[in-house]
Amino acid sequence: MKLILLGTNGFLPTDEAQTACFMLPEQGIVLDAGSGLYRLPDYLQTPSLDIYLSHRHGDHVCGLHYLFGGLFKYLFTRSHAALTEELLETILEQANARLNTVHLHAPQTALTELKNRFPHLHDWHPLQTRETLPNGGALTSFALDPPREETGFRLDWPGHSLAYVTDTIADPKAAYVKEIAGVDLLLHECNGPDRTAQVMATLHHSHTRAVAQVAARAQAKRLILIHKNPIGLTLEEDLPAARTIFPSIEIGQDGMEIEF
Ligand SMILES: [Zn+2]
Repeated sequence: MKLILLGTNGFLPTDEAQTACFMLPEQGIVLDAGSGLYRLPDYLQTPSLDIYLSHRHGDHVCGLHYLFGGLFKYLFTRSHAALTEELLETILEQANARLNTVHLHAPQTALTELKNRFPHLHDWHPLQTRETLPNGGALTSFALDPPREETGFRLDWPGHSLAYVTDTIADPKAAYVKEIAGVDLLLHECNGPDRTAQVMATLHHSHTRAVAQVAARAQAKRLILIHKNPIGLTLEEDLPAARTIFPSIEIGQDGMEIEF
């Protein structure tokens, strides 16, 4: 099963990385809709799309502004035709129709505000604890620690599993660790290196060592660090020590394609 990292930064996009967006193109699933969503036309391959939002912060939802443009680009590119008035009209119509095949799922507490912020999007659904996914899969959503609006996701198919945890303070003793037990692939936020652990906790974010401890405790198979910091706090310096806790750890990069 394939996962594409469309945006691996948190907070702010940079020339190297857009903000939170992760896509399973074969399943038509997107986790969070940060600025990385502008890359959607390069990967879209299903007639409909389900977008699951972890919470309402701008770095996780701002890409919804690009949804229509992305669908327009996708349709235009595939028309292989010169842009005429007639084609423009056809593609605008098709893009609007496609927009209605995008299903948005968000925590109940965020729904009203999100509907107001994105009035051109209509198909909103309150996130359920368990959602049915295509091809026999299921998405489970769970609270993080301490519980706030931010929601973690676990996606399971026979033989494939993935967990997505963002905007929280990693802690191997946290209750959410049991929700991600044994996953093949863990995408976990890591917003700052170990030397900034205290500041990260104040910001409600994670540092490298604690994330490695979470992955080890959960007995995940592979860990990708996401929600990177855009103000020059890189994580490379922590990797040798973190790998003594959990060996299979990488820093996520935009454009990475991962089989799990
Ligand atoms: Zn964030």
